[in-house]
Amino acid sequence: MRVRNKPWADDLITENPQAIVLNPEHYRGQWQSRFKSVQPLHVEIGTGKGQFLIGMAVAHPEFNFVGIELQKSVLAAALKQSLPAELPNLQWVLADGQGVNDFFEPREVTQLYLNFSDPWPKTRHEKRRLTYKSFLKSYAEVLGDGGQLQFKTDNRHLFEYSIMSMTSFGLNLTELSLDLHADVAASQGELENIETEYEQKFAAKGQPIYRLVAQFPK
Ligand code: SAM
Repeated sequence: MRVRNKPWADDLITENPQAIVLNPEHYRGQWQSRFKSVQPLHVEIGTGKGQFLIGMAVAHPEFNFVGIELQKSVLAAALKQSLPAELPNLQWVLADGQGVNDFFEPREVTQLYLNFSDPWPKTRHEKRRLTYKSFLKSYAEVLGDGGQLQFKTDNRHLFEYSIMSMTSFGLNLTELSLDLHADVAASQGELENIETEYEQKFAAKGQPIYRLVAQFPK
């Protein structure tokens, strides 16, 4: 996600310590203290400008949500967007998702989301893909046995790669869609899909959206 430098980003972040965390290691094992209610914790890595997680937090007050994003200007846009709603079940984290198991204790997270992750198409960059085995190992730790990973992308190659990577790791695919929007339309309201910013851009161009849900072995 490309963004211009936002001169107001630093001030907005400094002024809103109630909504954004800059030292996620500090909350390892204690994330529930950041929320109004103790309830299952859902985490998105690479949250971008936050559209998906804000939508999820509004639609699901019964869950707590943490959005992790690497780029300060991008996350500041998410923060700005979320502030008017004062959502008691949403927190932002400015950090690299590679450290996810330093941020959360084993089994502290119930559900993980990866949406339109950077594809890193060159083989020499495979290790940077958020579905590479070292990332899956970290996810396995924070989710624990039976934890769920939901993944959406427009990128067929990343999707194919991710299916191979996840199944080699021992995850079980429990849901699979090669055209999510067609499946959502056909489900007549049964299949919930909160759209991300990238998803809307790609879908508007007529590209199919791929989605899977995978479960770590019990
Ligand atoms: N999820 C959003 C969406 O679907 O609209 C944004 C998708 S954008 C293509 C990918 C985002 O992931 C970028 O904002 C990027 O900075 C972030 N990102 C990439 N690698 C990351 C990492 N290791 N940890 C945290 N964020 C990361």
